[in-house]
Order: sequence, then C-alpha cells, then structure tokens
Amino acid sequence: MKCSFCEAPLTCKACSKPFRPRGAETLLAAYQSDMRVVCPECQQPLVCKSCGFVYGEREEDEDE
Ligand SMILES: [Zn+2]
Ligand SMILES: [Zn+2]
Repeated sequence: MKCSFCEAPLTCKACSKPFRPRGAETLLAAYQSDMRVVCPECQQPLVCKSCGFVYGEREEDEDE
C-alpha cells in the first residue's frame, strides 16, 4: 500500500520492510489517524520511512 501522506510505498522505518496489512481492519486502521498501527513484521509502531509520519501517534503515555 502507499503512504497516505507522501504517496511513496509505505515502508516500516524500524525494520525497512514494506507494510503489508493483514486484513481489512489493519488497512482501515492505517487510514484512521486515531488508531494505532503496528508493523506486523517487527511489532513496532508504524512509521513511514519516506516521510517519517507516525501512524496512530498518541499524546498519552502508556506503560507496557
Ligand atoms: Zn517493521
Ligand atoms: Zn510517507
């Protein structure tokens, strides 16, 4: 899929692998800024390698 901001192929900044959503729910989440998207390859928050946009970035801190 393409990054919805820079139109480049959406690649995970953390692991440099192309983002391939596993199912429609993940795909939809990627286009809704209020939902967190996690890279299925490395489990890190999805960041576009091309433009640096963080998908689903939130202000609130959550301890894991
Ligand atoms: Zn990744
Ligand atoms: Zn981008």
